[in-house]
Amino acid sequence: MNAVPPPNRAAIDALLAALPADLVLTATEDLGRFSRDWSGDYHGRPLAVARPRDTAEVSLVLQHCHRLRIPVVPQGGLTGLVGGGVPADKAELVLSLERMNKVRRVDPFDFAMIVEAGCVLEVAKQAADAAGCLLPITFGAQGSCRIGGNVATNAGGFNVLRYGMTRDLVLGLEVVLADGRIWNGLKLLRKDNRGYDLKQMFIGSEGTLGVVTAAALKLFPRPEQVETALVALSSVPDAIAFYAHVRAACSDLATAFELLMRRTIDVSLTADERLADPFPEKFPVYVLLELSCGAGIDLRALLEGALVSAGDMLLDAVIASSQEQAARLWRLRETMVEKQGGGEPYLRTDVSLPISQIPAFVAAVETTMAEGFPQSGINIYGHIGDGNLHINVIPPRGLEREARAALIHDAETTLFGVLDQFGGSISAEHGIGRAKRPAFLERVDEVSLDIMMRLKSVLDPDGILSAGRLLPSP
Ligand SMILES: Cc1cc2nc3c(=O)[nH]c(=O)nc-3n(C[C@H](O)[C@H](O)[C@H](O)COP(=O)(O)OP(=O)(O)OC[C@H]3O[C@@H](n4cnc5c(N)ncnc54)[C@H](O)[C@@H]3O)c2cc1C
Repeated sequence: MNAVPPPNRAAIDALLAALPADLVLTATEDLGRFSRDWSGDYHGRPLAVARPRDTAEVSLVLQHCHRLRIPVVPQGGLTGLVGGGVPADKAELVLSLERMNKVRRVDPFDFAMIVEAGCVLEVAKQAADAAGCLLPITFGAQGSCRIGGNVATNAGGFNVLRYGMTRDLVLGLEVVLADGRIWNGLKLLRKDNRGYDLKQMFIGSEGTLGVVTAAALKLFPRPEQVETALVALSSVPDAIAFYAHVRAACSDLATAFELLMRRTIDVSLTADERLADPFPEKFPVYVLLELSCGAGIDLRALLEGALVSAGDMLLDAVIASSQEQAARLWRLRETMVEKQGGGEPYLRTDVSLPISQIPAFVAAVETTMAEGFPQSGINIYGHIGDGNLHINVIPPRGLEREARAALIHDAETTLFGVLDQFGGSISAEHGIGRAKRPAFLERVDEVSLDIMMRLKSVLDPDGILSAGRLLPSP
């Protein structure tokens, strides 16, 4: 059912008449690719798709939508995993940022870049790299997701451990408000205490408070050395002990620390026969570890020393001897992420909790889910250096659509019930969108929700932006 009521036909016609024809797509055959996300879990036909070429055109579109009360959903690369960017069926205008894709500036002295919201993350990373810098946001969807989407979801990824979330990397933003006014907060200042830090409101706001049109992002020196290792362990508590050991032994040079339970390795091996089991024996738990730094440090020796001094904690270990071998180790992780559902819907979660609580939490989840959902597969992996786990529940094959949806719902309720006992968050990085809205609204405290609703009513009084996501419907 649509949470967003469609506007009347006269309003839509007035909008189309007011906008230049080359700004809007309306033909059915053009709308398909804006109608579903990467996962395929959500789909809905847009009323039309506006594709502005600059900030003034975004402003023009929003001025008219505001005047005519036309619901709008901003769209980036559609890789979001909570249904946020997909339009409610025939009820929303899609505002696609795909034509605003320029890297406006890369400055190796400021260690900063200014990028338009529709720039694909990978392209922004390449531009930084060409200037000898690193834009550290890194994850599997970087070839498709866009900077505006990364800001709107406060994206995380593999390198949060060292560089923080997208929020930590944003120096400034340009945002078009729901009524079409342009807020220019696009600055490169690293320290600026003039009043409220307004950009923070928009980061992670999932398109509900404004449309991001450009971002100024922090850059870092490009690492000259990267070392990658896969280690095998007997248990999750050992993986956490190994994490503390690596942080202490490697002078904080760890840039990734990814947990993979055995089942997830099996998913990758089944999905891609070119991948090989990394060790002659199977182990219960694996950690994919990456260290990186500039020149002048013997990084390989540091890594080898850390592995040797971990002693009996490690059951086996391999250090990648080439970039190609490192890429193969990463493929063990990435293939599983893409193939785990076998093309059918499954429960995807991205929870977080204090790192020290992870062993007890995983034990509780394994027991509870084995009892409640014995036929389902439970894939556990994640960025454990950030206290962020993905616990995904894969229903048995061949279930009818409704039975599958009911199982996914029940599994989420059960899993989040366990998480609540550990004081965790139901979203570490994907956001709330439509998928997690009921669970979010059940848990959010009254004062937080009141502040969020007041912010929303100040910035978008008619509720035209991303209705039906994150917040309660008016
Ligand atoms: C294989 C895979 C791996 C992933 N791994 C990670 C990971 O490790 N960490 C992580 O954090 N995420 C991950 N994701 C999720 C996803 O890639 C991120 O949420 C990403 O930031 C979304 O960007 P997008 O451009 O695709 O946004 P979209 O999906 O298009 O939109 C996401 C949300 O942002 C809003 N939005 C988009 N653009 C704008 C804008 N310009 N202004 C205002 N609102 C906007 C949309 O309305 C929607 O609510 C993964 C996804 C996939 C498919």
